[in-house]
Amino acid sequence: MNAQTRPYRGRFAPSPTGELHFGSLVAAVGSFLQARARNGRWLVRIEDIDPPREVAGAASSQLKTLQSFGLVPDEPVIFQRQLGANHQQALERLLATGHAYPCGCSRSDLPADGIYPGTCRNGLPPGRTARSIRVRVDDEEIAFVDGLQGMQRQNPARQTGDFVVRRADGLVAYQLAVVVDDAASHITEVVRGADLIDSTGRQLHLYRCLGLSAPNYIHLPIVVDEQGEKLSKSTGADPIQRCNATTALRLALRALGHEPPAAKVAVADQLDWAQRHWQLTRVPRGPVAIGVQSDR
Ligand code: GLU
Repeated sequence: MNAQTRPYRGRFAPSPTGELHFGSLVAAVGSFLQARARNGRWLVRIEDIDPPREVAGAASSQLKTLQSFGLVPDEPVIFQRQLGANHQQALERLLATGHAYPCGCSRSDLPADGIYPGTCRNGLPPGRTARSIRVRVDDEEIAFVDGLQGMQRQNPARQTGDFVVRRADGLVAYQLAVVVDDAASHITEVVRGADLIDSTGRQLHLYRCLGLSAPNYIHLPIVVDEQGEKLSKSTGADPIQRCNATTALRLALRALGHEPPAAKVAVADQLDWAQRHWQLTRVPRGPVAIGVQSDR
């Protein structure tokens, strides 16, 4: 069955690298409302597979923040770190089928454009030892229709070249883990921020290599401050930190093209209104700027 005919399952997948920021709230709200509109289930997966980037306590604080907005998953929260056996199995499969190979290059061996030139593609050059594992990509276009952004054409060979699926520090790379875990959770539609749209081609390539059925994708607009700076970079402007929950939710809904009537003040009322009025066609495609006045 393809993603159209399977029961709808969506998810929100934050990395526990700090407090939930406003851009993530927009992704969480958008994925939640889209799942509700499709009578589907909405899951939360904490992407905690990168201990060097993890901030202690961030996962539980993100979950608490989600809860304060009424964003409660329909199934127990999934912690990506507990799924290591699946990731390992996928790595082995990629190696066994010749889609992946050991690479002995370090970052300093890469050209300035960052595109991997294929140095270890046909075997490790003499004197090199394996550091990471890369997936082979051919020079071909991967096309997909994004539910919001429309037709997308990407060519991973020209964007990144053969890309890393197991890092030199032994950790599984995001690109592989996200594919394996979304497939294991039977996710039918990935709704996330447009900052991740460029990695979708690589992820679709992995679905194909692993013989897994790929989800549909919706990439929500990035939120910027009035100077056009991505909000996560200018944390001082983050409405989650500066405003109370009702204002932050109102701003998130506004960023998604939905404005609850002024009389809907409580978080639960706003979310309830949004569930009844959600229309993907109202969501803007491009970066949306929000002005934030602190109301704390
Ligand atoms: N964990 C990723 C992040 O927080 C998002 C993964 C995804 O939605 O595909 O940026």
